[in-house]
Amino acid sequence: MEQNLNQSVIALKGIGEETRIALEDMKIFTIHDLIEYFPYRYEDYRLRDLAEVKHEEKVTLEGKVHSEPSLVYYGKKKSRLTFRLLVERYLIQVVFFNQPYLKNKIIMNETITITGKWDQHRQTISANEFHNGAQVQNNNFEPVYTLKGSLTMKGIRKFISLAFHQCGHLIEETFPESLIKKYKLLNRRDAVRAMHFPSNQEDLKQARRRFVYEEFLSFQLKMLGLRKFEREHSPGLEQKYDLPKLKNFIDSLPFPLTNAQKKVVNEILSDLKSPYRMNRLLQGDVGSGKTVVAAIGLYASYTAGYQGALMVPTEILAEQHVESLKILLEPFQIRCELLTSSVKGKKRKEILRGLAQGDIDILIGTHALIQNEVIFSKLGFVITDEQHRFGVEQRRVLREKGENPDVLFMTATPIPRTLAITVFGEMDVSIIDEMPAGRKTIETYWAKEEMLDRVLGFLEKELVKGQQAYVICPLIEESEKLDVQNAIDVHSTLTHYFQSRYKVGLMHGRLGAEEKENVMKAFSGNDVQVLVSTTVVEVGVNVPNATMMVIYDAERFGLSQLHQLRGRVGRGSEQSYCILLADPKSDVGKERMRIMTETNDGFVLSEKDLELRGPGDFFGKKQSGMPEFKVADMVHDFRALETARNDAAQLIQSKVFWTSDEFKHLREELEKTGVFEGEKLD
Ligand code: ADP
Ligand code: MG
Repeated sequence: MEQNLNQSVIALKGIGEETRIALEDMKIFTIHDLIEYFPYRYEDYRLRDLAEVKHEEKVTLEGKVHSEPSLVYYGKKKSRLTFRLLVERYLIQVVFFNQPYLKNKIIMNETITITGKWDQHRQTISANEFHNGAQVQNNNFEPVYTLKGSLTMKGIRKFISLAFHQCGHLIEETFPESLIKKYKLLNRRDAVRAMHFPSNQEDLKQARRRFVYEEFLSFQLKMLGLRKFEREHSPGLEQKYDLPKLKNFIDSLPFPLTNAQKKVVNEILSDLKSPYRMNRLLQGDVGSGKTVVAAIGLYASYTAGYQGALMVPTEILAEQHVESLKILLEPFQIRCELLTSSVKGKKRKEILRGLAQGDIDILIGTHALIQNEVIFSKLGFVITDEQHRFGVEQRRVLREKGENPDVLFMTATPIPRTLAITVFGEMDVSIIDEMPAGRKTIETYWAKEEMLDRVLGFLEKELVKGQQAYVICPLIEESEKLDVQNAIDVHSTLTHYFQSRYKVGLMHGRLGAEEKENVMKAFSGNDVQVLVSTTVVEVGVNVPNATMMVIYDAERFGLSQLHQLRGRVGRGSEQSYCILLADPKSDVGKERMRIMTETNDGFVLSEKDLELRGPGDFFGKKQSGMPEFKVADMVHDFRALETARNDAAQLIQSKVFWTSDEFKHLREELEKTGVFEGEKLD
């Protein structure tokens, strides 16, 4: 019978209805599914030098039987078989539990091979596998597959093996010759074979390398293909900004831009100018100077005749942004206004009218910006700060308040590059990876809670100098109520400690908007010197006189959040400090504290965070849109990911890719996304 890989597994000789159903439970339907059901690990039956084997490690050894075996029965059906084995120059003890029938096979001076767990202290191997004679060279690695339902490991191995032997020749190459040559990749059939039946470590490595690249390339092609399609089908504004004016504006800034700022400004400007709609993510660590980049973009858009909007997650942030933007932009006759739910009555009406008539150039605010009554006369550029705090829906509503305005998302939570180019693959990403010159690093210490007295003494020294301090309270998972209670307790402890010497304020999520405002105002006006707070203070707050950050129970926070919290200090010219009060039990917890004391670089921290937590956890509960790969691992294989990203970008741009037969298979992948159907692909 003529076979093809898309046939049901039942077409294979040796697979009947029962097996078909068992395989179906594992989502294996076709021969192709079966052949590409890869092992998740391998039993390693290579012989090892005993000197290199660690305690409790699993190992395969070859040796000569050096004593008659002795068999002891104990309990019901339990037995222990022991003998000595000479492995090269080592004489070790071998134990087999509950395999009494082996006794007759263990013969003095014969060579045997065993596999088991090595107990270094007792110089004993607790074995579970045995065969006569020396190691069979061909079978060094045995594949181990994920199993579900009734299938056994032996079964799945057999079925895959017979599928490969009957149909392996049908596996087609999906890569063009040029790619195979360029990266010296195994061809697809060999790679599949080596995944299941590797002849040695190197063979396996090469097979993995091929599939890692294949998975990444196909994924990136889809992402970039979608983006290309999106771009070409979402006409944007060709914002013709006034370059001389813009240059003049940049020259008037109180400081020169860092190189990183210049780079991202150029990226943003070229998006504004292009006929496509900007869909860009701007990442920059706390204090890297995103605000001024936003101001430059808004100014450019203004000179092109458009209004701008800046949406931020909290009122406090909105007010701070209005202030800083007014200082930068008002000298250029640009009118900036604030709109939050606290702006009411006559003032609100005035703003709404000014906006609709085009008298107001830039509107800054909270999600009040997306209410129906807010109408722009000519919205051209929308920026959202801390984009992860807004839902997709809110961002869409804001965007639709103009006709295809350009959109920029800013975030101070650095996302590791690996994730940025996968999860946000359909967005362009700009990164400010450099701090303005002269920025002092925040000295960070890790202390145990019993050292609280010394920590408070240290804190008071800063207060004596006229500085201020934040004290962040324990985070209690899933319970804002308990968080608040903790903050209240710490507040009363500190109030008692500082007596009338310093004023201690209290901030938490249960306070009303007005109360929060008042507390923050008192702190920024230095009427309050120590602010005890839950994590509500995390985002964007700017009080440069605060130089001390104490975080209780720091082990309960993730690295990114600790870094965000720490970013509240170090905003003025004085040296700042961060003290982590923590007593982590786990190694990962200790590692986190250590990393915090060692680096101030948010990108380094986010990469570390990803490493410690794994991609699944990084964004919290099941992030939608996280790609799943069979072979590749985004963290481990990040170099391959970057290579694939670059290759995909080049391919998508090239005419050959869309026309030549060589790329037929790769194009088919893209067509599966559906959007290119009926499209002229060149
Ligand atoms: P963030 O990226 O956290 O929003 P900001 O935009 O608030 O950072 O900038 C932090 C501080 O650094 C501000 O006081 C700002 O004026 C200053 N700043 C920004 N860019 C530069 C620069 N190129 N040189 C010196 N200081 C700068
Ligand atoms: Mg900012």
